[in-house]
Amino acid sequence: MLQLDSHPTGRHFLQIPGPSPVPDRILRAMSLPTIDHRGPEFGALGRRVLGGIRQIFKTQHPVIIYPASGTGAWEAALSNTLSPGDHVLMYETGHFASLWNKMATRLGISTEFLAYGGTDEHLPQAPGWRRGVQADLIEARLRKDTEKKIKAVCVVHNETSTGVTSDIASVRRAIDAAGHPALLMVDSISGLASADFRHDEWGVDVTISGSQKGLMLPPGISFNAISPRALEAMKSAKLPRSFWAWDEIVEMNKDGYWPYTPNTNLLYGLSEALDMILGEGLDNVFARHQRWAAGVRAAVNAWGLPIQCADPAVYSPVLTGVITPEGVDADAVRRLIHQRFDLSLGTGLGKLKGRMFRMGHLGDSNDLTLVAMVAGVEMGLKLSGVKLAGSGVQATMDYFAGHAAPAALQKAA
Ligand SMILES: *Cc1c(COP(=O)(O)O)cnc(C)c1O
Repeated sequence: MLQLDSHPTGRHFLQIPGPSPVPDRILRAMSLPTIDHRGPEFGALGRRVLGGIRQIFKTQHPVIIYPASGTGAWEAALSNTLSPGDHVLMYETGHFASLWNKMATRLGISTEFLAYGGTDEHLPQAPGWRRGVQADLIEARLRKDTEKKIKAVCVVHNETSTGVTSDIASVRRAIDAAGHPALLMVDSISGLASADFRHDEWGVDVTISGSQKGLMLPPGISFNAISPRALEAMKSAKLPRSFWAWDEIVEMNKDGYWPYTPNTNLLYGLSEALDMILGEGLDNVFARHQRWAAGVRAAVNAWGLPIQCADPAVYSPVLTGVITPEGVDADAVRRLIHQRFDLSLGTGLGKLKGRMFRMGHLGDSNDLTLVAMVAGVEMGLKLSGVKLAGSGVQATMDYFAGHAAPAALQKAA
């Protein structure tokens, strides 16, 4: 823990894949005085953020903002659309997909957890945790469901436990090809505002997201983007819900208000984040994360360590998972790096505990903060006795020096 008499100098390197480093501009916006959440200024703020956030999800339809972490918004998505005993198809991409599956079971939903059937040399215990969703498996399962018992297909867009992004458009095509009416629900808690995401175009019925990843806010708000079909499903869905119920919120949101006290100061932050992200342009934001990710992967390749994601087509732009050599406890490496260099890395979750660590490249970062992260990891790996094939720091520097950021991100001469 931090002690006042031993506060480290300089900035802490928060390189976990969420919460991400929050820009000073957002922290300052959040420090404004809290206002009356029923007053006229609030209505203007509410309408502003509710309008802006639709542009981030790329939807014309309502987006609900909850004062809750992403887990709450998972529950909201399920409880607003499903009834007890409903059958749902979920896909095991990693720890977050597994947690969502567990939640659905606890809510009284009957889940089927599809998984990759192949093997993996580095992680025999979790072969599917190195790959994205295989839409053909979903299509084959839906085709067998001639009675249309499956009410929803649930997938994670950017699996934060592994650093693998799934092709959501291909899942929609699979559902359509099977001629199946199931709703498509997508967790883009860590994908939104870092990786390309299109709620309407990809025919997603409910997208779940959160504040503390790509949106660069502190934790504390989360989202449901909802299609007209999902709103229709709500009318007959019987799972108990009250706080999470969409109907009253959608109604009051029309004027920019909520049925309860929303977290005003986080909404100031959201308003600022929307200005920053929409001002930069979503395509530029996505390209910036892709470039950062490539620079960080160059380091892992130079070290000669396996990247958690085994399929280059679906590398995450948000984070990179690194598998440590057999016998090296990845959490011990992380602890050492934190103690020595004040740098926090993501832990291996669930089936990956101790076998890998995660480097975040999202939030308030730039080329030099990422070079510093790579340097901290390289020093920590060497101190832990890991034999490295070459210098990751050099590889990342070469990548960033050799691939200039788009002109829009460079300072004027
Ligand atoms: C962070 C995250 C969650 C959990 O969100 P909380 O805000 O911690 O409740 C769920 N799914 C994914 C993919 C995440 O990245």
